[in-house]
Amino acid sequence: MKTIGLIGVMSWESSLIYYQLINQKVKEKLGGHHSAKSLLYSVDFHEIKNLQHEGKWEQATELMIDAAKRLERGGADFVVICTNTMHKMDSQVEAAITIPLLHIADATAGEIRRQNIKKVGLLATAFTMEQDFYKGRLAERFDLDVLVPGEVDRKLVHDIIYQELCLGVIKRESKDAYVEIIKKLVWDGARAIILGCTEITLLISQEDCEVPVFDTTKIHAESAVEWALQA
Ligand code: GLU
Repeated sequence: MKTIGLIGVMSWESSLIYYQLINQKVKEKLGGHHSAKSLLYSVDFHEIKNLQHEGKWEQATELMIDAAKRLERGGADFVVICTNTMHKMDSQVEAAITIPLLHIADATAGEIRRQNIKKVGLLATAFTMEQDFYKGRLAERFDLDVLVPGEVDRKLVHDIIYQELCLGVIKRESKDAYVEIIKKLVWDGARAIILGCTEITLLISQEDCEVPVFDTTKIHAESAVEWALQA
């Protein structure tokens, strides 16, 4: 079994889910008392969140590179960045290490394409919904048409992520707001919804949505196990 290198705690609410899913999946596949071989490098998310919101992406990139290098030095066979947003610096991280990076958008898009879906709605942080690093990759490499909510709804989705979900706060009214935004995306033609932030799974599940939901946390964690168990 390969050793999974996790860059986590962006936020720890979602890293908990990753850790649980990864170990559950290994147990399901191998049985007995099997568990995942992994290293988790935990950042201080307060620092990361401030750098993001101040637009200090170079410093944020340095922190991601430092974390990835630590995992490589520690013996990880590949790196998993446990957040969608921090894939903004994917190529810089990849260039700084000699082990592979398991990209969250690639894992997710692979699942979507397997279901022959082309037009998808994306819920994520404003960084992920508005910048090109994620949507662009989905479009260019996987030929997906990505819809995002309008400006007011994007701000609401973003604020709920940072002010509630990343702090472990789950509110009924926020769930209702997300469900309404999902309905608008479906009305605009989305045939599936990407939960493109690793905390949204705390709020939204398949039952809340009439089209298929692609949960990036689950897909990424399960892909990590597949990579770890490949010969
Ligand atoms: N976990 C979130 C994501 O998947 C947001 C937190 C972060 O800024 O990394 O994008």
